[in-house]
Amino acid sequence: MRRALCGLLAALAFSTAVMPTPAASQASTALPDTVASDCPRAMTVEPAAVQAEAVCLLRQYVQIDTTNPPGNELAAARFLAAFLQREGIEAALFEAAPGRANLYARLHGDGSGKALMLVHHMDVVPANPEEWTAPPFAGVVRDGYVWGRGTLDNKGPGIMELLSFVMLKRLGVPLGRDVVLLAVADEEEGGGKGARYMMAEHFDVLRDVEFALNEGGAMLQLDDGRLLYAVEFAQKVPLWLKIIATGPAGHAAMPKPEAATHRLVRALARLEQFEFPVTVVPAVQSVFDQRAEAMAPAKRAAYRELAKSLAQPAFRAEFLKDPHNAVMVRNSLAITMLTGSAKENVYPAQASAVVDLRLLPGQDPQAVVAELERAMHEPEVRVEPLLSATAHSSPLDTVLFKAITTLIKRHDPKARVTPNFIAGFTDCNTFRAKGITCYGFMPMHLPMAETERVHGRDERLAIDSLAQATLLLHELVREMVGR
Ligand SMILES: [Zn+2]
Repeated sequence: MRRALCGLLAALAFSTAVMPTPAASQASTALPDTVASDCPRAMTVEPAAVQAEAVCLLRQYVQIDTTNPPGNELAAARFLAAFLQREGIEAALFEAAPGRANLYARLHGDGSGKALMLVHHMDVVPANPEEWTAPPFAGVVRDGYVWGRGTLDNKGPGIMELLSFVMLKRLGVPLGRDVVLLAVADEEEGGGKGARYMMAEHFDVLRDVEFALNEGGAMLQLDDGRLLYAVEFAQKVPLWLKIIATGPAGHAAMPKPEAATHRLVRALARLEQFEFPVTVVPAVQSVFDQRAEAMAPAKRAAYRELAKSLAQPAFRAEFLKDPHNAVMVRNSLAITMLTGSAKENVYPAQASAVVDLRLLPGQDPQAVVAELERAMHEPEVRVEPLLSATAHSSPLDTVLFKAITTLIKRHDPKARVTPNFIAGFTDCNTFRAKGITCYGFMPMHLPMAETERVHGRDERLAIDSLAQATLLLHELVREMVGR
């Protein structure tokens, strides 16, 4: 998932160079021959064999540094393409810009259903080796974990998808639906050279995709100890605004209230104090409906009617105290970038700030901008939208959601599966905009404490979880696409 976001605006894809299947053969010359070919091949769904192969592949995948920026996902795409080619599966690489490739591969079914897509992103956020106890791009195996940047976000899940995909071919599973494997670039900087580029420039190869599985799912421990598998089906969207103040330039020895910097600071102070109304959208209520079932009866009733409960000051104060709750019921606003004078004693003619807002579904970005302009009520201050998206959610009454529920119940009868709304954003919103039902789901056991390592220090993935999740995912895919 993305956290660093500032690159998105520059990420408008301009190059549409397509490298079709020959890219796979170029890959083998660009990579050391040891890559992937040295890994043991699991020819059955035997956990030890799957684990050995998955660990070996993940270590090598982590060793390809795809820190974004600059990304350099081409090296990772070639690694995946070379592996697929050895399995007899041709992959196509789509380059959005030099070095910024997306990988696409497909297994063909009998045409009896529309395609299922497994998607992950190849790029990772930066890692400072000095802050880590293991080198972040070495793929070290220690204490039962594979360590390294991307093991959780998103290369580990990428290997789970890759093996789930190739196992269909190795085992000769007869397919009804086609299965598409998509590895995208640039997710951590907004997807302009990844998912958004693919949807804008190469939708022709994905036109028949009905379902997609992507990152963004989670497993939570309920109050009663059971596991809750949260399937992401809706999320907030970003609205990035540049606030620009203008005023007279001049010497700072003559204080001027109408100086651009002063105007900007006053406007931002009002924005920082601005409180968006509390709104419970249906997607969020459905998440709390599910959570409420594990709560004590008194608490349960309150959470089942969240909008009503939030009208009561005591409940509202308690609820909003938890920042995880707060972001689910209102838009958020963060002031992230500031520019003013380049000189200590000079007023600039212009000063500006960037504000990162996250909007709930159903919000009109233009109306929000108008509301903020009123709140700032400062002359000579204008708002320039930098990025705006519309939030799309996926339907829940689908064969894929049912298949996920059946899978989890089969392996963990006490577990619950619930639709989830997230405050961050993933590539799913881009796929949903094109009518694809996209869920954030990965059957990966990840204790809450481990999630802090995502985008943090010492990111690592438990080896047994890697194998287990690969097998569960393979089972799910098989049920969705098997004849
Ligand atoms: Zn991610």
